[in-house]
Amino acid sequence: MGKIIAIANQKGGVGKTTTAMNLAASLAVLEFKTLVIDADPQANTTSGVGHDPKSIENSIYECMVEEANVRESIIATEIPNLDLIPSHIDLVGAEVEMINLESREEKMKQVADQVKDDYDFIIIDCSPSLGLITINALTAADSVIIPVQCEYFALEGLGKLLNTIKIIQTRLNPKLAIEGILLTMYDVRLRLSNQVVEEVRVHFKNMVFETIIPRNVKLSEAPSYGLPAIAFDATSKGAVAYLNLANEIAEKNGIAKVAE
Ligand code: ADP
Ligand code: MG
Repeated sequence: MGKIIAIANQKGGVGKTTTAMNLAASLAVLEFKTLVIDADPQANTTSGVGHDPKSIENSIYECMVEEANVRESIIATEIPNLDLIPSHIDLVGAEVEMINLESREEKMKQVADQVKDDYDFIIIDCSPSLGLITINALTAADSVIIPVQCEYFALEGLGKLLNTIKIIQTRLNPKLAIEGILLTMYDVRLRLSNQVVEEVRVHFKNMVFETIIPRNVKLSEAPSYGLPAIAFDATSKGAVAYLNLANEIAEKNGIAKVAE
């Protein structure tokens, strides 16, 4: 049965989408069957793994709101073992349309649960908000990864996010765990970057992943080619970091691949 991991932080530009697509691709390269669900109307994960959001048939929107067939909505990517449920700008309207639906917080869970057995990992990229779609993602998830940018105000908003997670644990999803806090866009030359790493580690201790994602231009270039970094430049620092993260997560979950 697959593990569902949401990538969430209501702050924009902290590396959620970069983490979703590159972690998913790295898990796939490690031969874990992986599904990435794009739950952001901006659809950057969708285009980042090579699909044009304008020309897709069904998105997570149709699956959640119109009960489209989930298996038929899944599309393959060029990376072996990596599938996608795409997003579409229509998802913007979903929050309003869902207001009157019964169990409106559980629509994504109903979608993910249908295909959970087909995958080792399901990674959900969230939008920069704590709205209903993100609540759906956290209700569907077994755990959450919180990317934190090694920048000014890194911890800003984190209290609110952790509080939201607590409320969801109490009311909607008692099994929701924190997989880890992920430090992103680290620049070894900047004192500030090092200060943030130290501050976050002091504050959150072993909740923080050992792997730190460096600022690396290949991570920002690869999406314009519709590729995760590992398929664009597998030896780049960014690609290697996300592969390390995938290994760390596999190990933490007791399913690391043993080299033969
Ligand atoms: P979010 O999904 O949280 O809004 P993104 O993953 O889209 O954040 O990242 C914001 C911007 O920063 C994007 O242009 C992305 O390409 C870039 N970016 C993210 N992580 C890195 C990194 N480690 N190194 C360089 N650029 C990055
Ligand atoms: Mg994003």
